[in-house]
Amino acid sequence: MSKARAEYESLPYPKVVVVGGGFAGLQVIKGLSGAPYKVLLLDKQNHHCFQPLLYQVATASLSADSIAHPFRTTIAPMANVAFRMCTVQGVDPVGKVVHTDRGEVEYDILVIATGSTTNFFGNERMEQEAMQLKSISQALDIRSDFLQDFEAALYAQDEAGQRRCLNFIVVGAGPTGVEMAGSLAEIRRTVLKNEYRELNSDRMQIWLVDSNDRVLKNFSEQSSAKAQRYLQDMGVHLKLGARVASYDGEVVTFTSGEVMESHTVLWAAGVKGVLLPGLEAAEVPKANRYGVDRSNQLNGIPDVFALGDVALMNEGAWERGHPQVAPAAIQQAQLLVKNLQRRANGRPMLPFTYKDKGSMATIGRYKAVVDAGNIHVGGMIAWLGWMFVHLMALVGYRNRLQVLAGWAWKYVSWKNTIRLIIRPYVRNATVTEQEVSVPSH
Ligand SMILES: Cc1cc2nc3c(=O)[nH]c(=O)nc-3n(C[C@H](O)[C@H](O)[C@H](O)COP(=O)(O)OP(=O)(O)OC[C@H]3O[C@@H](n4cnc5c(N)ncnc54)[C@H](O)[C@@H]3O)c2cc1C
Repeated sequence: MSKARAEYESLPYPKVVVVGGGFAGLQVIKGLSGAPYKVLLLDKQNHHCFQPLLYQVATASLSADSIAHPFRTTIAPMANVAFRMCTVQGVDPVGKVVHTDRGEVEYDILVIATGSTTNFFGNERMEQEAMQLKSISQALDIRSDFLQDFEAALYAQDEAGQRRCLNFIVVGAGPTGVEMAGSLAEIRRTVLKNEYRELNSDRMQIWLVDSNDRVLKNFSEQSSAKAQRYLQDMGVHLKLGARVASYDGEVVTFTSGEVMESHTVLWAAGVKGVLLPGLEAAEVPKANRYGVDRSNQLNGIPDVFALGDVALMNEGAWERGHPQVAPAAIQQAQLLVKNLQRRANGRPMLPFTYKDKGSMATIGRYKAVVDAGNIHVGGMIAWLGWMFVHLMALVGYRNRLQVLAGWAWKYVSWKNTIRLIIRPYVRNATVTEQEVSVPSH
């Protein structure tokens, strides 16, 4: 056993196991560094992923490594924190044990920060055929897929075949859908026009579909209307008040009976919490999240806490839980750290109160919207504000520099430069995140 491991193992503190190193989990381990706890982070990935910029990896603006940060770099200076890469498969809250694909892990305090996954609302065929955007590997799949579509369009026998390759349908007009649609529209105007000169760029169509009657339904009406105008100016077709019934990989069918041909459908219409077997008692029916009290402890399950996207706390105006966004995850994690320190000193826990700092979404160059209380800003100021906030929120100086350099280059070159098909996308043959685990030897 190495000296560092022996020192870690011999720490005379209660053991906190954190499942998931996303926004919430990472905040917990950073906060507990140096605290009287022995902390173990478990994640199926070996890196933190900055999800708000995933769409820029998917649309070839940023490289994958610029939005990912290895957990080992983060914990290297933290003597009381260790990391194990594994997939957590269940929890036994009575025996205080976590089951993983690498064996069992005991805990004194368990923190579940497993985030959320794409919600296809039970539509299995859609899940098989549509693209989704929750991880870096999925972002790289989307990147390969749209580039492959461009290349395939050059081989299409007729105009109809070409249009099929170049018809992109984004389902869900929340921030992710809006950002994806805007980014694809920029690619049509720049890359497709200038570098695929044999293709008629007008044949590339981008559809943004939502069952609501406006885009960004959780934003103010002003911001929503502004975003809608930006998208239309960029040539994105809005199909609002429309519901997708099915997609077979070639044809999208709407509940109205209308059909549309497309090789690429991106599903961005909802998320659901990643729940672990064994904690069903705290699951909130239909919400796909764990019900938690004001200190984020699972209802009825002592010493188990849930944070972020997977937690549902009824607090003040947030009767149906806080929004599934990074600030909610981070704020909950910050209070839990404080509360665990209070607990170590025998003091009672403090209740959580969410500070809503507003919402922002970007559509394209100089086109973004920001809602902060009663203030609604659009255009260049919102666009610069969006970039600043996202740059500062990234983990690691190297990532910030890399993203800044990527944006600066795109700004001067007007191009999405990382247009590489490294690992061609083969539909239904993608290695799922679950399969990417550490092999046994
Ligand atoms: C495309 C996209 C864009 C977004 N844009 C924004 C934005 O602009 N602003 C904003 O505030 N929010 C945005 N969000 C939402 C935001 O990313 C989430 O709210 C936030 O990541 C939630 O943090 P979390 O810690 O709860 O979970 P996550 O950050 O999702 O972290 C979960 C972690 O748990 C790990 N994990 C899951 N299951 C297991 C398991 N069984 N075993 C081991 N490890 C596991 C995962 O690998 C991951 O590391 C966006 C999300 C997406 C997908």
